[in-house]
Amino acid sequence: MPAIRIADRFSSLQPSSMIKIFQAASAVEGLINLSFGEPDFHTEPEIVDAAAKAAREGCTHYPPLQGFEDLRKEIAAYWKRHHGLETDPADILLTVGGLQAPHLCFQAMLNPGDEVLVAEPCFSAYFQQVENNGGVVAPVPSREENGFFPTAEDFAQAVTPRTKILVVNSPCNPTGGVLTMEQALEIADVAVRHDLFVISDEIYEAFIYSGKHIPLSSLPGMKERTMTVGGFSKSHCMTGWRIGYAMGPAELLKVMTTLSVSQTFGVNTLAQKGGAFALATQDKKVKARTAEFERRVRYCAGRLNAMPGVSCPEPKGAFYLFPDISGTGMADEEFAWWLLEAGKVAVIPGTAFGKSGTGHIRIACTLSMEDLGKAMDRMEEALKKRG
Ligand code: PMP
Repeated sequence: MPAIRIADRFSSLQPSSMIKIFQAASAVEGLINLSFGEPDFHTEPEIVDAAAKAAREGCTHYPPLQGFEDLRKEIAAYWKRHHGLETDPADILLTVGGLQAPHLCFQAMLNPGDEVLVAEPCFSAYFQQVENNGGVVAPVPSREENGFFPTAEDFAQAVTPRTKILVVNSPCNPTGGVLTMEQALEIADVAVRHDLFVISDEIYEAFIYSGKHIPLSSLPGMKERTMTVGGFSKSHCMTGWRIGYAMGPAELLKVMTTLSVSQTFGVNTLAQKGGAFALATQDKKVKARTAEFERRVRYCAGRLNAMPGVSCPEPKGAFYLFPDISGTGMADEEFAWWLLEAGKVAVIPGTAFGKSGTGHIRIACTLSMEDLGKAMDRMEEALKKRG
């Protein structure tokens, strides 16, 4: 096929170790899959009804490029209600999933060779997005004793004259860590001192089990240098609707909006109608699901800590656990493949989220208590058998 000549910069593109596990897991019969970062709950039927009603009423045309104003007002009200954050609806841009928000931001801000500090371990899509937009990733390692967030010193050490953006995610995928006020203030201080822009991915803000969610943009000196990523996928179980948003300085959003014109031309009209209804009506249900996720992560952490060679920190947020499995004598990649074979349980090796994930695995507690119980039984039995 001589006509297909992949761009040089993508010629060595390979599926990540996460995708390889997903693919292998899909062929395992009787699998219990703890590898997917998506809630097992369906979208609430009344949200589906709201979107369907809008469609029947003729709301089937191109959306406004920045997103419907009523939805942007609902987003601002949601953050005010839950986190005390003041946001002007003009400073909100709807995106295709939360995922498109950092992508557009990198595209808008990075010149070739500009560097982006990424707090590790992290959602690995950031790495690809930075690279695809001509930037250079500077992974900033962290340690478990700091809740898996880099310290101010760790960040400061990684800064060079080319550093432009710092990316942090709390509550964190994959670690379930939640920034403390002290840590958040340290990050804000680094950003201000080195004049960095911050992408604060706060898509798991609804899921906090210990401490409090701190929007980084609410800290002194941060509003004008922060883009917050938010969404519906996790809090409102709307992964398939592909809707999320960026909150940040209007001058940045304006460029991001212009870039999106040639890519997506706005976000699915019906998803926006469903999203507006969800934010206006679902607080109690979000709270109930948060309590259920907390029950699950606490249960699994307790079970993991009783297993030989496994040590799991206290879950703080999101719906992930990131236990240290180095005491089993296996490397994390080896462990994930072994568990798939020996226990028919799929998990993700920690190194899929960067080097700081070495010796850990990510467990997504996105199945029923019954299935999680079975998965923990299988893992425990397999480890005991191995001796
Ligand atoms: N940020 C983080 C940290 C995530 O874990 C995810 C999804 N796994 C996203 C952003 C993107 O979510 P979505 O595009 O579904 O809104």
